[in-house]
Amino acid sequence: MNYKHITVAGSGVLGSQIAFQTAYKGFMVSVYDINQQGIDLGKERIKQLKLIYMQDLKASKEEVDRAFKRISFYVELSEAVKQADLLIEVVPEQVAVKMDFYTKLSKVAPGKTVFATNSSTLLPSKFSEATGRPEKFLALHFANQIWLNNTAEIMKHSKTDQRIFEDVLAFAKAIGMIALPIYKEQAGYILNSLLVPLLNAALTLKIKEIADHQTIDKSWIVGTGAAYGPFAILDIVGIRTVYNIVLSRGETGDEKSMYLAQWLKTEYLDKGKEGKETGEGFYKYPNPAFWDSDFLTK
Ligand code: NAD
Repeated sequence: MNYKHITVAGSGVLGSQIAFQTAYKGFMVSVYDINQQGIDLGKERIKQLKLIYMQDLKASKEEVDRAFKRISFYVELSEAVKQADLLIEVVPEQVAVKMDFYTKLSKVAPGKTVFATNSSTLLPSKFSEATGRPEKFLALHFANQIWLNNTAEIMKHSKTDQRIFEDVLAFAKAIGMIALPIYKEQAGYILNSLLVPLLNAALTLKIKEIADHQTIDKSWIVGTGAAYGPFAILDIVGIRTVYNIVLSRGETGDEKSMYLAQWLKTEYLDKGKEGKETGEGFYKYPNPAFWDSDFLTK
C-alpha cells in the first residue's frame, strides 16, 4: 500500500472523525462537502476533535496542530479528488444521495483512485456500477468515536480486486485501526450481525414482561463475562436510533416491530428518556445502577 493522499467526502459526524484520524496518522487529507456551510460545520467539528484528542489520547498541541495543517477543504469535487489514492465516502445514508455522488465522482476522479464507502446499512454492490470501477470499490466501515472505538470493517463485494482489498486493510492499520477483513457482502457487517439479534431478544424479553431489564443485563454479564448487558448497550446507542430502526422494520409490515416501536416511543422517547446522552434511558446517568458494586448480587 503506498497511499499518501486521502479524500474524505462528507464532513459530518463520521467524516470529520475519519479525516482527522487519517491526518493525525500522517496522511495528507482533502475534505469535500456539498457546500460552504457543510465545510464550515465540518471544520468546526475537526477543531473540536483537536481538543478531544488532547484530552482522551494525551496528544500534544503540536501534534494536533500538525494534523490539522495536513487537511485541506473543498467544495469542488474535481479539486478535492485530484490527487486521491483513496476516497472515503461518508455522505448521508440515502440511496439517492450516494448514487448521485458516485455518478458524479466517477466522471472526475483519476483512474488510480480507490473508492470506499462508510455506509452502515447499504451494501457496496448497490453502487458498484455507478462508481465506474467496481474492482476498485469496497466498504470501509468505521465506528463512531473512531479514536476510541478503533475498529474498521473492510468488506469486499463480488467484484472487488483482492489487491485493493489488501491495500485498504493495510491503510486501515496504518491509521491505527483494528482492521477486520470481511470476505463477502453481509448486511450489518460483523458487529451488527451479532448485536442486532441480541438487542432484539433483550427487548422482546422485557416487553413480554418475562424479566426486568436489570435481571436481563445481569444474566448476560454473569453468563458471558461481558462488561455490559444489552440494556446498557441500548442506552449507549441511543433509544431514538433504535426506535428509527425498529420503526422502519415495522413499516415494511412486521407487526411485532411496529408494536415495539410504539412501546419505545410512549415509554421512553415521549418521556425524554433517550439513553445515556439525555441522562436517562433504561438506566439513570451519570451513575447508572450497573456500576454499583452490588449490582450483580442484590
Ligand atoms: P452526517 O449527516 O453527520 O454527515 C453527512 C455529511 O455529508 C454532511 O456534512 C453533509 O453536508 C454532507 N453531504 C450531504 N450530501 C453530500 C454530497 N452529495 N456530497 C458530499 N457531502 C454531502 O452523517 P454521518 O452520521 O457522518 O453518516 C455518514 C455516513 O457514515 C453514512 O453512510 C452512515 O451510515 C455512516 N456511518 C455513520 C455512523 C454514525 O455513528 N454517525 C457510524 C458508522 C457509519
